[in-house]
Amino acid sequence: MRLRGIELSEKGIRAVLTELKAWLSPSIRAKGVLQTQAGDYTLIHPTYGEPYHSVFAGSVRECLEKFLEPSGLLNKASHQREITLLDIGFGLGYNVAVAIKKLREINPKVQFRVISFEKELPQVVPPLPDEFKALHRLLWDNLPEFEKNGISFKLYLGDAREKILEVSEFYAHAVFHDGFSPYRNPELWSLQFLSQVKRLMDQKGVWVSYTSSLPIRKALRQLGFGIFSTRSVGRKRGGTGACLSCEDLLSPEEKLKLETSPYAIPFLDPELKSKPIEILIDYRVRVELLKVAQGGVEPPTPRFSAGCSTN
Ligand code: SAM
Repeated sequence: MRLRGIELSEKGIRAVLTELKAWLSPSIRAKGVLQTQAGDYTLIHPTYGEPYHSVFAGSVRECLEKFLEPSGLLNKASHQREITLLDIGFGLGYNVAVAIKKLREINPKVQFRVISFEKELPQVVPPLPDEFKALHRLLWDNLPEFEKNGISFKLYLGDAREKILEVSEFYAHAVFHDGFSPYRNPELWSLQFLSQVKRLMDQKGVWVSYTSSLPIRKALRQLGFGIFSTRSVGRKRGGTGACLSCEDLLSPEEKLKLETSPYAIPFLDPELKSKPIEILIDYRVRVELLKVAQGGVEPPTPRFSAGCSTN
């Protein structure tokens, strides 16, 4: 039988379909605003069926421990006059608000240049805890762009794949890459999109995300990044950090997986225009071909809810 012009056995096609179904199903039944186990709030996206933040770790803790701390910005803020931040997936604006607040505590004079991308702003925005409220409100009251209080902020509203092509001469000290989980939101995680992100990074900039998914790590590696695992927060595995000026710091076990698993191949989106489902089918069919080439030995499958969601 043929799938996307590729000959696969019926068993192979069934395996592809079963995994695609699991990847695309919601990670959580709840809807609307949800209180996390840490007591702060997040929102469930109605289409993706996934929370904007970690329900177990909590929203603020996720911003701090999965994004700000591994980004190297805490150190940079202490001796730099300006911080440039590229924020992929503005969402509720939590990552940006929490980062600016915490970095200003280290250096009240530090200036910010922030670019965010967001496809669709949510209808409801639950509040952050009191200490972040003023900054959070500053962002939301002044969207899509403003220059105030030493902050230059611009939100590009629309598909980040199109919008990123409009941006040049931006040299991010850090990238907060926070799409929904790669297997539900693959267009934000392809080799080609990550290549555009790399174009907007400072040579010493650090890319961070909550995910440790193999296709993302492989894409980063192919783009010349050194990769490291970030601390786990409320889940077994940590996320990923990547920088152009650092060594690969993965454990031998992680390196082996990245070199041998058939799942360790990038998502492809050559023209940055493919439908998400096309990216996923293409990826999973290529995985199946590798599995067959490897002799049909069952490899470890990636977690289905690889995202920021219910961990
Ligand atoms: N960083 C956010 C925060 O701190 O509140 C949470 C981001 S949430 C996990 C993922 C976001 O990515 C959602 O707001 C979603 O709308 C956005 N997104 C998904 N696909 C996108 C695309 N193709 N272009 C731009 N934004 C996208």
